[in-house]
Amino acid sequence: MSEVVDPASGEVVGVVAATSVGEVDAAIARADAAFRRWRAVAPGERARVLRRFAAVVDAHLEELARLEVRNSGHTIGNARWEAGNVRDVLDYYAGAPERLTGRQIPVPGGLDVTFHEPLGVVGVIVPWNFPMPIAAWGFAPALAAGNTVVLKPAELTPLTALRLAELAREAGVPDDVFTVLPGAGSVVGERFVTHPAVRKVCFTGSTEVGTRIMAGCAAQVKRLTLELGGKSANLVFADADLERAAATAPYAVFDNAGQDCCARSRILVQRPVYDRFLELLEPAVRALRVEDPSRDTAEMGPLISAAQRDRVAGYVDGAKVAFTGSRPDGPGFWYAPTVLLAGSTADRHWREEIFGPVVSVLPFDDEADAIRLANDTEYGLSGSVWTRDVGRAVRVARAVEAGNLSVNSHSSVRYWTPFGGMKRSGLGRELGPDALHAFTDVKNVFIATEE
Ligand code: NAP
Ligand code: MG
Repeated sequence: MSEVVDPASGEVVGVVAATSVGEVDAAIARADAAFRRWRAVAPGERARVLRRFAAVVDAHLEELARLEVRNSGHTIGNARWEAGNVRDVLDYYAGAPERLTGRQIPVPGGLDVTFHEPLGVVGVIVPWNFPMPIAAWGFAPALAAGNTVVLKPAELTPLTALRLAELAREAGVPDDVFTVLPGAGSVVGERFVTHPAVRKVCFTGSTEVGTRIMAGCAAQVKRLTLELGGKSANLVFADADLERAAATAPYAVFDNAGQDCCARSRILVQRPVYDRFLELLEPAVRALRVEDPSRDTAEMGPLISAAQRDRVAGYVDGAKVAFTGSRPDGPGFWYAPTVLLAGSTADRHWREEIFGPVVSVLPFDDEADAIRLANDTEYGLSGSVWTRDVGRAVRVARAVEAGNLSVNSHSSVRYWTPFGGMKRSGLGRELGPDALHAFTDVKNVFIATEE
């Protein structure tokens, strides 16, 4: 049993049973048996089941959003977006079963065709920072391609995943096709890696655990998608719309209280506008509404746990604080948005993923300097470029080693477009038109036509 806590108050809001290894094995065996049936369901019918699942999620958006506010401390505005994202991702991949076409390749002596075959049981391991969307980015395309899914939510945030499993059943997703197994990473998550019937693992979380999972999967040549950490750069050039760049920068890093792998937690500003940028940034940070996340006006809520708050505070101790925003008094795991001035790129807060509402700022000289500094990290998930020069925007976006760049914007995630990291930020891509291929293997079949 583990207790589930409301991060805004510190109060226990529920108790969830932890799945044992024996129970995980039994669930995987059932999912494996269900795979034989689910892959044989006609593509149009699989599509209909997923559309019904999307419709049932849509009918429960507010309930799911409120549950996420209570369990994760997300602002109600964000939580509504997250529940809506589950619906949208299901709807998007509901279009896939009927479009999962192979190729016909001209060869001598026969007919050659390819098939995208489902893999079997897919294990999805979800972190606590975006419990609903990250779950859906795994289970929706996996199910659409004909796989069955076992899913482990984070111990801290299991409630919405458990509710989504109930809604799946209500929508007519057959038994054992989608199973949520709450419990410890070292028990349930590990078993996804070691159990031979699990043919693919989708992991989102820390680079440290992801690295171990990759090594574990190697023993069985198990397919793997990794979405790991980030330390993304927000590059502000002197010719940018400085007002907009400064007004939006807080949301690019303090959204979800900074607990976002895409957080633009390193702001690089071209030297001639460095002082002016900070002048504009300060009121934007001070105005950020950090308050009870269930209020419609909330822009930032608490951190997920006391441990995470202490970890974040550890990065600020001894660092040069430029200014901070506000935080409510009283119980809960609150931390005020904080802007740090980096002394050099050696500063710990400049190099490591903090995963909290802390951003570091550093000046740069020219385009080459900006690119060099942006790439001086083991991570490569996302990043932003602010400039009015189209040529520079394209040059810099191509030169930054990250999977998701935005120009004069901070958007990273759209379910229509591929998402994932370069370098130690991950392996493979989720979302977008090609995600189905990460849940299938290509089979080539040659049929002789010679007499
Ligand atoms: P984590 O340990 O990597 O946890 C992510 C998920 O993996 C959780 O469901 C966790 O289960 C599970 N897990 C843990 N150990 C495992 C193992 N040996 N085998 C299989 N699954 C395992 O991340 P965290 O401890 O929650 O967060 C630590 C730091 O990671 C954060 O501060 C942040 O820097 C980074 N992080 C990044 C992302 C991202 O989106 N890229 C997300 C979360 C965290 P439990 O819940 O039982 O631990
Ligand atoms: Mg951990």
